[in-house]
Amino acid sequence: MSDAECRMSSARVWRLTSVVLLTFHLSPFIFHLPLLLVSFQLQANPIEFTESDAHVALAAASNLVERCTPRDAGTMRGRLAANWILDRVSRTGADAFLDKFRAPTPDGERTFANVTVEFPGTKTNAAWIVVMSHFDTMPNIGDGFQGANDGASTSGLLIALASSLRRAGRQPESIALVWTDGEECRKAYGPDDGFQGSRRLAETFRTRQRQVKAAICIDMLGDKNLNITLPANTTPILKDIALAAAKRIGAEKKIVYKDDIVVKDDHSAFLDLGYPSIDLIDFDFGSAPGLNDWWHTPNDTLDKISAESLLVSGRLTAEILNALQQ
Ligand SMILES: [Zn+2]
Repeated sequence: MSDAECRMSSARVWRLTSVVLLTFHLSPFIFHLPLLLVSFQLQANPIEFTESDAHVALAAASNLVERCTPRDAGTMRGRLAANWILDRVSRTGADAFLDKFRAPTPDGERTFANVTVEFPGTKTNAAWIVVMSHFDTMPNIGDGFQGANDGASTSGLLIALASSLRRAGRQPESIALVWTDGEECRKAYGPDDGFQGSRRLAETFRTRQRQVKAAICIDMLGDKNLNITLPANTTPILKDIALAAAKRIGAEKKIVYKDDIVVKDDHSAFLDLGYPSIDLIDFDFGSAPGLNDWWHTPNDTLDKISAESLLVSGRLTAEILNALQQ
């Protein structure tokens, strides 16, 4: 029996016990049935990310780009994007909420907004697994910068993942999906420039004394030519879990751990507070293998992302979440 099974809530134990006693009382000849019921009810349904989810993810990413471009943090259009995501996630039936806050930037204090949906776990003292995607666009790239891969693709993926989680039902550990604002800097990354949303989020978890089992950042994972990097600043156990998960879904050739590359991304805010964190990012987003020349350019457009890549990225994220429920 796993650790998760041992820590059932007392209510659940009572319910199972009732089933056992009632069934045994009714017929001693079918005493094997309650045992089957017990083993069945202790298993959480695995989270599955399907082809249909991948198409939902692509459609959501496309809608986000078409309706909310640009989505620079601290602007009216950034807040429009946050509200669009809130509405879109709420339509899956998930109980999403907006966290608006003020934070300094090189151009003075601005208003930011993260979008969050939480799925509380069934375990007593369930820990939290946070999955983050930023939705804001990098400022000053040029008119019409879409941020289709950088921001929109994984934001669409998270919207589809909210549906996957609702289908799977409650998991042993608690899961929070968060669309972060202010990942991009206005001028140069620094204490007051970039990562405002993830810093706010990590600090909220610390203040509320929540136990964090993993903070997972997904970024730029819609790239048609998908190559996922795990940077060196990833917690080793989570690196192992991610690589094993990729192998289980047959995507081991799509992901590589690079011990010579450090990527500052939204997971860094959690790492800075000592929480286990991982970054899944496609940093080979370009016109030829090994190049990243479409990143932060007007070439980051919707025609560069695909449902096929979102399917792999979504399945990988779901498989990591399943592994973390053990
Ligand atoms: Zn970016």
